[in-house]
Amino acid sequence: MKLCRHLLASALAIASFAAQAVDQPPLTATTRASGLPRAPEQEAVTFELADLSFKVDPARKWLDGDARLTFLANKPISRLVVDLDRNYKIDLVEIDGIAVAAGAWGNPEGRMSVDLPKSLAAGGRALLRIRYAGSPHEATRAPWDGAITWATAPTGEPWIATTVEGEGCDLLWPCIDHPQGEPLRVDEHITVPAPLVAAGNGIARGMDEKDGWRTWHWSARNPDTYAIALNIGPYELLQADYKSRYGNVIPLRFWYLKGNQAKARGLFAEFAPMLDFFEETIGPYPFGDEKMGVVETPHLGMEHQTINAYGNDYRKAEYGYDWLLQHEFAHEWFGNQLTNADWDDMWLHEGFGTYMQPLYVQWLRGQMEYMAVLMKQRAGIADAHPVVAGRSMTEEGVYDDAHGPGNDIYYKASLMLHTLRGLIGDDAFFRATRETVYGTDTPRPGNFKPRYATTADFIATTNRVTGKDYGWFFDVYLRSAKLPQLLATRSGDRLQLRWKTQGEKPFPMPVQVRVGDRVVDVAMTGGAGEVGIADGDSYTLDPQSRVLRELPQIADFQRDTAERAKAAAAARKR
Ligand SMILES: [Zn+2]
Repeated sequence: MKLCRHLLASALAIASFAAQAVDQPPLTATTRASGLPRAPEQEAVTFELADLSFKVDPARKWLDGDARLTFLANKPISRLVVDLDRNYKIDLVEIDGIAVAAGAWGNPEGRMSVDLPKSLAAGGRALLRIRYAGSPHEATRAPWDGAITWATAPTGEPWIATTVEGEGCDLLWPCIDHPQGEPLRVDEHITVPAPLVAAGNGIARGMDEKDGWRTWHWSARNPDTYAIALNIGPYELLQADYKSRYGNVIPLRFWYLKGNQAKARGLFAEFAPMLDFFEETIGPYPFGDEKMGVVETPHLGMEHQTINAYGNDYRKAEYGYDWLLQHEFAHEWFGNQLTNADWDDMWLHEGFGTYMQPLYVQWLRGQMEYMAVLMKQRAGIADAHPVVAGRSMTEEGVYDDAHGPGNDIYYKASLMLHTLRGLIGDDAFFRATRETVYGTDTPRPGNFKPRYATTADFIATTNRVTGKDYGWFFDVYLRSAKLPQLLATRSGDRLQLRWKTQGEKPFPMPVQVRVGDRVVDVAMTGGAGEVGIADGDSYTLDPQSRVLRELPQIADFQRDTAERAKAAAAARKR
């Protein structure tokens, strides 16, 4: 997730994560949006280092922030531009240690501009310091909105988390709020009242304690912009080392709430098999030199890089694994290692991230579990907007299901991947996946770095790996709102089959049909085909459920469920 807006979770989410009204200043349109086109000055720089100090005071619900940002100019620039919620009060702006006069910087809409004392040539560096303070925007339904959740642990201590996927990193620190705004490194210094613990991104760099406050130091390379998160609470720590098949040793760390040790041990025992699965199926854990980190949070979950948020309350499932932990962990590959170049490519995170659940239970348990999870996902496909719009999108534009694909970037994309795997076979499917994730088919720790990719990149890689053009496949599944329909007409001793697609796009997708006691492969060249059928023979289309297609019974089920939910809501109001 970057957010996981899982339907599996949404029933639960509506019940236990009900929105709470918070009296706070509104966000500007610029701050509320994430992934707006970058300013030319933001595109002209390499964001080398974000050195971020956060002092978090739960008693006052207050954040004092001090950000030192190093930019390398790739083109000549005369100012620096960063995004920061203007509801913070800024009391100091410096360039290279010298204060910038009040008239030389401004932040009217949440896109802050700072004039440089003299223009920077290509190859030049500037250190921008911004000291700011205020009450961070409060989330009302985390993790689906941001930024901060002030909760209380069951044992009475403050329990604090941030979630900024929706509105972006600018709710928390001055950043470039775009998927491609990743700094090369982020150092964090998180100051909290003793004895609270702040579990951060990347590698632990120690803790200082002074005058009743603790400062926890962390350092992370190539973090996703919204991966930078505050997680503060009365945490205890479970730790172990994982010996990877690639020869390296990966630190495993789980910060759980005091009092939850027995349950936490159960979840911690799932870390190693999940690593086994991902490393065997996809490739090396991308941040093995830092850690596999998980922290217990007061919200459901979020894929914060090397410090995944876990809030599934150790719920047991019939599959015998924690789907929330596994989903967020999948994003270390699909989200944090492979990052969408634009929000329009978000299915690369959520579709793959969601397909990793059935794939994991197939590996862990077997076919019944694999198909059962896929069926649950199938029932959640809305099929109202294309998964990919073909133009630059904001986060909200993608997630708002009234105007964008919403949950279809999870479920429809996951079922599309299941279909692709069946069509091109495991070898080609996993090779195309691996190359898209790592940029190489032979990833080893140290020979790859986090990378950006687009939908077009994945399609091109699939075509290259298979030596065929699967443009027709992706056109129908990703770029059409409607799923393809498989029409079957019985005519004498023939069963005629035809694919019907939105806009009459070509769709030569082979299918199987059971006729009587035989299963027949139908090539569907040109989008049509037929099989012989004797009088009295029954038939089943696609008896092994290999191909994602429109199913009228699912539409009926969804309509009925929605009507019943509406009626129940109306009854509650009366
Ligand atoms: Zn997700």
